[in-house]
Amino acid sequence: MNMLDSELVVAALRKSGYELTDNPKEADTVLFNTCSVREHAEHKIYSSLGRLKYAKNNNPSKVIGVMGCMAQKDQELIFERAPHVDLIVGTGQLAEIPRLVSEIRDNREPQMAVSLGRKEGSRDEVSGSFQSYDPLRDPEMRTSPFQAFVRIMIGCDKFCTYCVVPSTRGPEQSRKPSEILQEVRVLADQGVREITFLGQTVNSYKHTEDGRLHRLSDLIAMCHEVEGIDRIKFVTSYPKDMTDDLLQAIRDFPKACRYLHVPAQHGDDDVLAKMKRGYTIAEYREMMHRINETIPGCAVSSDFIVGFCGETEEAHQKSLDIIREFRFKNSFIFKYSERPGTKAHSLYPDDIPEEIKKRRNNEMLDLQNAISAEDNAEFIGTTVEVLTEGISKWGRKAAEEVDPEPGQPLATQLTGRTDCDRIVVFDGNPRLAGSLTKVRVHDCTPTTLIGDIVTGEIQHGSSSMLPILG
Ligand code: SF4
Repeated sequence: MNMLDSELVVAALRKSGYELTDNPKEADTVLFNTCSVREHAEHKIYSSLGRLKYAKNNNPSKVIGVMGCMAQKDQELIFERAPHVDLIVGTGQLAEIPRLVSEIRDNREPQMAVSLGRKEGSRDEVSGSFQSYDPLRDPEMRTSPFQAFVRIMIGCDKFCTYCVVPSTRGPEQSRKPSEILQEVRVLADQGVREITFLGQTVNSYKHTEDGRLHRLSDLIAMCHEVEGIDRIKFVTSYPKDMTDDLLQAIRDFPKACRYLHVPAQHGDDDVLAKMKRGYTIAEYREMMHRINETIPGCAVSSDFIVGFCGETEEAHQKSLDIIREFRFKNSFIFKYSERPGTKAHSLYPDDIPEEIKKRRNNEMLDLQNAISAEDNAEFIGTTVEVLTEGISKWGRKAAEEVDPEPGQPLATQLTGRTDCDRIVVFDGNPRLAGSLTKVRVHDCTPTTLIGDIVTGEIQHGSSSMLPILG
């Protein structure tokens, strides 16, 4: 979500005549897009702001701004801790940034635009103060010309006890399906092949338009018809809202990727209840059963929190148990970070010592890596279809070190993903970027499949999906 926000804000500023620079010291305007999910991320922003203090002293006309979740959460506190900051803009006011920056330049007065707190008005008033920011797209600002995020909803109403998102992103609000479809068509015209629908709980999407209720499965069906789009993904799913119509849509529409990110967060029912996640492990298991029944071969990834308040060794073992049982494609594992303003902060002491959190975190990572490596090894000897994204990090590094012969086509290491979100690297011509390429896998690591292009079977611009592993 933050990557998309940054892309859109930079595009809007470019339309107002700004250019990007990679030297913050020389920039006229420096904006930090911020995350509040973990304390560490906020510390990093405050240190980065501190480092700009002298640059601002030397150049008082420099505009320094903080946007996003931390801006919404800390508000004036940012001015107090970093008085050289000129601008604070919450997640619901991003559209105002070009105007506010220009006002600061003209008047040299600090500006702040934030949304209402969840208890500072009626639901309608609070929702109205969080505006989804979805201007028309600037192809130059995407990290990949072939892939794009599309926001389908903002906010969250689940109120997990550890999480700041319901405050920083506001109430759950779904965008109109007609607007989303229009945006996808624009993206397809710009050459995008893969879209990823975004929402904090993306599968909770619902919007009534022209008297008809639209759910995520309907959006998939609508966007499946858009010519040029080959793949449709969505993140992040909420376990309780994993409905059958959605699973059937993934099964029935070939462009829908067989990949789900559905955070379990913990393996112990008592901890889940304390987190107020709204499901038990038996219910999560039932969901996994329906996923596997409806979409055989579907990859599922998860998030976990270790060291949540009062987590016993036995409870921690249960998180390890479910990694073993559900064999997630990968898991993002986070040590619990207490967040002021959340229920967990006011109700439960953050009582698991850091070294225990660290040890449990490492145990989970080791287990997940071993499972990912075993599951990736199953692909050795198979052919997978990859949406080629471009030159891999390794390929870029190698290209800097080796001068190709003049006139020789540069074969280098490329990277892409299968429709099950597995990363694949293989040697090929960078012109393959944006095409669906068939790759025979001959090796793997826990995170990556390694293969060779299957010659003579490369598809350019095709939306057909073959019944192969991936
Ligand atoms: S569902 Fe996700 S975004 Fe919403 S409160 Fe829970 S963890 Fe936060």
